[in-house]
Amino acid sequence: MKCYDCDVTGNEGTVAIGVCRRCGLVVCPDHGRVTQVLVHRTSGVGKASSDRPARRVLCSPCHSAERPH
Ligand SMILES: [Zn+2]
Ligand SMILES: [Zn+2]
Repeated sequence: MKCYDCDVTGNEGTVAIGVCRRCGLVVCPDHGRVTQVLVHRTSGVGKASSDRPARRVLCSPCHSAERPH
């Protein structure tokens, strides 16, 4: 698979590392942003289970769009 951002800029030979969770485009390490998010799991009664870090891949436009100002 080819990175979309590299493809539109004519940059050949890059290896994609993931798929943007928001727009679904394929991204390379240069154009993708891998972030760690904490998934909060609440279990009805009793003590809550531990928060587990999860990974999420976003392309740079989606990453900047989600970034709070
Ligand atoms: Zn790229
Ligand atoms: Zn995206």
